[in-house]
Amino acid sequence: MARRLQGKVALITGGARGIGAAAARLFSQHGAKVVIADIRSDLGRSVSNQIQLESVSYVHCDVADDSDMQAAVDTAVSTHGKLDIMYSNAGIIEKKVGILSVDHQEFRKMFDVNVYGSFLAAKHAARVMIPEKSGTILLTGSVATATYGGAPHVYAASKHAVVGLAKNLCVELGQFGIRVNCISPFGAATPMNEEWIGLDEKALEEMFSAVGNLKGVVLKPEDVAEAALNLVSDESKYLSGLNLLVDGGYCLKSAY
Ligand code: NAD
Repeated sequence: MARRLQGKVALITGGARGIGAAAARLFSQHGAKVVIADIRSDLGRSVSNQIQLESVSYVHCDVADDSDMQAAVDTAVSTHGKLDIMYSNAGIIEKKVGILSVDHQEFRKMFDVNVYGSFLAAKHAARVMIPEKSGTILLTGSVATATYGGAPHVYAASKHAVVGLAKNLCVELGQFGIRVNCISPFGAATPMNEEWIGLDEKALEEMFSAVGNLKGVVLKPEDVAEAALNLVSDESKYLSGLNLLVDGGYCLKSAY
């Protein structure tokens, strides 16, 4: 197998489970040293142990906490000498759907993790990437950035903010040779969706397949990780400012 991230150092927020854990596995298979930054320490350490490569480590980090994020990036640099890839993947979704049901505390929590967490990941990555004049930052949106009515309001608003942040950062950081993109998946059966929707993996996959555009395939967390790998690898060296929809054409279909 071609090792597309050989010699690279990647930090993946929210890498303890779901899409982030799939990315940690894939990036390390491709030769990267990976630091998983998450609040679920048991899961994070277990993913790191399962991969059974010295190349994957875990650091406890609440992405919404400036000093945690700073320490996570500094750990990556002190352990591996540099940071090439920041994959800001950690995110949460609110359980309540209607506009009348969400209070300020829940609203702030969604924005703290999804938006401020992405901002801090980008800020601390930029802090160490700018002097090197190289690096790539990948933020996480959702199909909720291109379709409407399927996701709760605050989640949708927060993910739009993340896309705006990625595009604005792309412009500021281009002068330093730093690429910034966003990845926006369609529904995949992950613990987040199991908890949000209340269905198990099989039922979720059936549900997403029924509404999805591309028939005969099921979107897995590993497929999102593959798309992320494409965006962060040097083969994509001139891609910046994209919001890559990993949706099998779902958003186009939904536009009609
Ligand atoms: P998940 O809940 O399965 O995994 C998310 C990880 O983020 C968990 O390990 C969790 O502990 C971590 N996390 C949450 N809050 C954190 C915090 N404050 N600090 C550090 N880590 C934190 O979710 P997932 O489905 O794998 O989603 C990953 C990303 O993809 C999220 O940003 C989500 O919004 C986005 N997304 C997912 C889907 C999907 O269908 N699964 C679709 C579109 C977008």
